[in-house]
Amino acid sequence: MNQENVQEEAEQSPALSQCAALCSGGVGKRYGKVVAFKFGGSSLLGAERMFHAAGLVREAAQVSKVAVVVSAMKGVTDRLLSIEKALAAGKLPQARREAEVVLELHLEVLGNLRLDEETERRMLRELQPLGRDLQHEVEGWGHGVASAEFSDRLASFGERFSARLFAAALEKLEVASVPVTSSEFVLTCDTFRDAQPHLEQSKQRGRRILLPLLKEDVVPVVTGFIGATPDGRITTLGRNSSDFSGALVAYAVDADELVIWTDVDGIYTANPQESAEARLLHELSYDEAHALAASGAKVLHPKVLPLAAESEMVVWVRNTFNPQARGTRIGPPVEFSSALPSGGAA
Ligand code: ASP
Ligand code: MG
Repeated sequence: MNQENVQEEAEQSPALSQCAALCSGGVGKRYGKVVAFKFGGSSLLGAERMFHAAGLVREAAQVSKVAVVVSAMKGVTDRLLSIEKALAAGKLPQARREAEVVLELHLEVLGNLRLDEETERRMLRELQPLGRDLQHEVEGWGHGVASAEFSDRLASFGERFSARLFAAALEKLEVASVPVTSSEFVLTCDTFRDAQPHLEQSKQRGRRILLPLLKEDVVPVVTGFIGATPDGRITTLGRNSSDFSGALVAYAVDADELVIWTDVDGIYTANPQESAEARLLHELSYDEAHALAASGAKVLHPKVLPLAAESEMVVWVRNTFNPQARGTRIGPPVEFSSALPSGGAA
């Protein structure tokens, strides 16, 4: 029972036992599972989608402990990286403008979340400094910052914005939540743009931050994609790596399940947009799914499955926009087939 792990760990570490004492009222509800939900950029594009995704979290949080991992809103990482291109081409005004647009995009979503005045003011106090930091990066370029390192710092802003906005959407749905920047615990090497995390150290550090939150029924909203070197420089785990961040967070909290929420019904035998023959796969072993990922199918980041297999966590690929569909389950064989919903989502 992973919930027991959560409590056990909280009792072992001194910092956490303080928390355990603070919340000695204990957990009010009975939780069956610990789950990690990862939302991709299209699931987060705009306030309406954020609320929809947050609704999925609220539902799950009634029966499970939930940790969330978010990508940047769709298109934002590309836009951030285009700042670097503009700078490299000597187009400083264009770079400045792009940085402004990134802030404006997120402020627009903030406006559309229609938060109460006080929360909106607090959010502005969080988002505007991020926008200013981004502008400072742009202005600082002239001082000769190493390029891969610079590009990771730029790229990191998307997830830092989206995690804050998503946490606010959850709060509005009365789900207690807090944004967490993964560079606080995902420790990596310094291969910028493709940094490798140190699994065990990241796990231990992640537990210290995440378990007390879960214990208090607070949903951590963790930035995907980002880590940091031991001396605190921001790294990224490579493009499209927030699935992998989802797996890292799930691994850190010993989640029973990782749900990758995306914009298709699950994993198909071929690209459903390109082939009428494409069939939805309901059930895959880790090896089968890994072989599919390795053969170039755009299903999951290739590092998700080895980590999931190691800890025997079940990975689901599900459609945010069609949550009635069961999705694809990847994991150890289900012992009782009656445990599966019949029919599925084909
Ligand atoms: N935002 C990052 C990217 O666009 C990570 C991700 O979305 O998985 O590559
Ligand atoms: Mg993605």
